[in-house]
Amino acid sequence: MQHHSLSEADPELYKILKKEASRQENEGLEMIASENFVPLQILQAQGSVMTNKYAEGYPGKRYYAGCEHHDSAEDLARERACELFNAEHANVQPHSGTTANFAAYFAVLEAGDKILGPVLSHGGHLSHGHHVNFSGDLFDFETYAINKETERFEYNDVLKAAKKHDPDLIVCGYSAYPREVDFEMFREAADEVDAILMADIAHISGLVATGAHENPFPECDIVTTTTHKSIRGPRGGMILCKDEYSKSVDKAVFPYSQGGPLMHQVAAKAVCFNEASKPEFKDYTSQIIKNTGALADSLQENSLKLVSNGTDNHLVLIDLREEDITGKLAESALEDANIIVNKNMVPYDPESPMTTSGIRIGTPALTTRGMKAKEMREIGKMIADIIKNPEKDVIQDAKKRVEILMDEFPLYEGSEVEY
Ligand SMILES: *Cc1c(COP(=O)(O)O)cnc(C)c1O
Repeated sequence: MQHHSLSEADPELYKILKKEASRQENEGLEMIASENFVPLQILQAQGSVMTNKYAEGYPGKRYYAGCEHHDSAEDLARERACELFNAEHANVQPHSGTTANFAAYFAVLEAGDKILGPVLSHGGHLSHGHHVNFSGDLFDFETYAINKETERFEYNDVLKAAKKHDPDLIVCGYSAYPREVDFEMFREAADEVDAILMADIAHISGLVATGAHENPFPECDIVTTTTHKSIRGPRGGMILCKDEYSKSVDKAVFPYSQGGPLMHQVAAKAVCFNEASKPEFKDYTSQIIKNTGALADSLQENSLKLVSNGTDNHLVLIDLREEDITGKLAESALEDANIIVNKNMVPYDPESPMTTSGIRIGTPALTTRGMKAKEMREIGKMIADIIKNPEKDVIQDAKKRVEILMDEFPLYEGSEVEY
């Protein structure tokens, strides 16, 4: 076999990678709430020889020979995950957050069973019952709504929906909810109707890992997450659960819904959980909370309305219903200034999902770059200026300032990233 560096072997693809690295480094403020930048040690594990092996099964019970070191890596990932999240069992093989949810549902339910999840435009994910997704197709999904006055999920609303629909399982955990999830409240509602309680902490798992957000255990029975959002690891998923569900969760991942695990990703998940247990990561997540608070203050001081009037976590949701601009146009005006956010439905949104009356903004990625409250306040002002007055000169001024910020807070530059 001939070995070549990627730049020699495939200059065409290499050039694309260089361009993407430069885009991440220089071409915009990454404020999509689900994105982050991983450290080099994660990239290294992902680019390792662990990709070469079939390791179907679980440590000690594989279907192929030669899995000794894969067993060690997966055990390390599982042990670190349990320790970090105070969980009794971890399955680190799901390829993504969506496949983790698929396996978690089928671990304890059968097709056609009833699940109670959030109204999708109130912060849920496609895999929480959308009709274009397997979840809406294979399960009988009913919903609970955000409270119109408080713009938070409230016990009485959840309980009322639970009593009305008598679900087998309740899902809590969201993609666009700026407030702390009250797992105790959901446990009480689940107990009233004898339902299994599942938390999907895909967005907040980094915060949960350090205590910057309440832990879903012991209230929840099953917890799913991605490993690439606030926890800043490789792209992938994970299921955590109480012991009584461990066998059915493992079976639902393999062989029910997946074949061989992506062991290079599993190795990188082990690295991620080690990083997340360090004091530096705790500092990182408390900085995320401070940064989001500063961003929220700045947006509000500049007369923008936020869903629920603020934030407890890593994101804010701007409510544009009283502004002269839609989510779609605001997203595009901000992109022109190299501020990258996404349009998002607000609760009870009169606009369609393609247009929306909201903008979702997250701080994990910029906090990874080293930005602090001062920069967040300044960025909040720029965002408000553009939303209130999306004209060429306002956008150009912001864009110039964004360029300077990119330079001041380098990402991988100078650290010899291998492509
Ligand atoms: C991102 C997300 C997922 C899905 O993750 P993928 O890895 O993109 O499949 C699931 N649930 C929630 C709440 C999410 O925010």
